[in-house]
Amino acid sequence: EAKKNGRGRYEVFAGDMDDLLLRKRKVESELRKALEGEGGIKLAYQPVFAADGCRILGAEALIRWGHEVHGALPAAQFIAIAEERGLIGDLGKWALSEACRFAVRTELPWVAVNISPMQLRDIGFAEQVSAVLSETGLDPSRLQLETTESVLLEHNDTIGTVIDALRQSGVRIVLDDFGTGYSLLSYLRRHAIDKLKIDRSFVRLLDEDESARAIVKTLIELALAIKVEVTAEGVETEAQKALLVGMGCRQMQGYLLSPPLEPGQLLALPGVSSADRERSAARA
Ligand code: C2E
Ligand code: MG
Ligand code: MG
Ligand code: MG
Repeated sequence: EAKKNGRGRYEVFAGDMDDLLLRKRKVESELRKALEGEGGIKLAYQPVFAADGCRILGAEALIRWGHEVHGALPAAQFIAIAEERGLIGDLGKWALSEACRFAVRTELPWVAVNISPMQLRDIGFAEQVSAVLSETGLDPSRLQLETTESVLLEHNDTIGTVIDALRQSGVRIVLDDFGTGYSLLSYLRRHAIDKLKIDRSFVRLLDEDESARAIVKTLIELALAIKVEVTAEGVETEAQKALLVGMGCRQMQGYLLSPPLEPGQLLALPGVSSADRERSAARA
């Protein structure tokens, strides 16, 4: 069945329970090998644009697995397996180092890295991040860590301590998939964060659904009112972009502006690589 679907649609979660377990084990061991240096894991970078649609404000690192069979697995699926199998610490550390190493080679104002809730439950995480920053030479202010609301639902002291320590060190904390959880208001009252990313499930409905429009407008107003930056994710149409601009949204990410790119493709965009900066400075 998996074969019939072809490479692009390998279904790890299809089949009965035994099958499922076997496939997860297989994914786990292949992931382990990849992390032990066999390669195959990469990062793609999706630029985030200013509302004018031209200027690149930064980029989000998104993990990709080029495995011949499992490579078609969406990131969310193999990350869930990595979390379940105790591999997320290593995978997360690899992604963080790789993204920081890449960012120092660019003129990008910042790079954003997705962080699993499990990483934030580790009291040593803030120190791990500081170590990666000094090893790679990336200024803390150029690193943004994206986490989801679900993590903040847990009334977990460690997570609060880790987030505070990260912000103290100059790293910025971004609340991803904003609007999909339930605790956001109480969390925002209790803790500081730096940016909210409005989930694409709302953005997707903007042009057709009046209540989605009202919710997004309210979320943007909320962010502006509490002086937190706001990004809309999953912007796919000009109509969505125009509505968001009208609502005061200043940062956008989505297929309309750019899909996630290979590092080389991102570097080729204007203003991203330092070599490019030097070239245009020399021309001027
Ligand atoms: P996310 O952080 O919310 O990332 C945005 C997802 O939306 C990415 O999917 C991206 O490719 C996709 N996307 C961007 N623009 C559009 C658009 O206009 N339309 C649509 N339909 N989709 C768009 P991707 O790369 O499959 O990643 C899925 C999720 O996996 C991410 O959601 C993030 O939660 C997680 N993830 C990715 N990389 C990492 C990582 O290095 N570590 C951890 N812990 N999680 C990661
Ligand atoms: Mg994200
Ligand atoms: Mg997101
Ligand atoms: Mg999302």
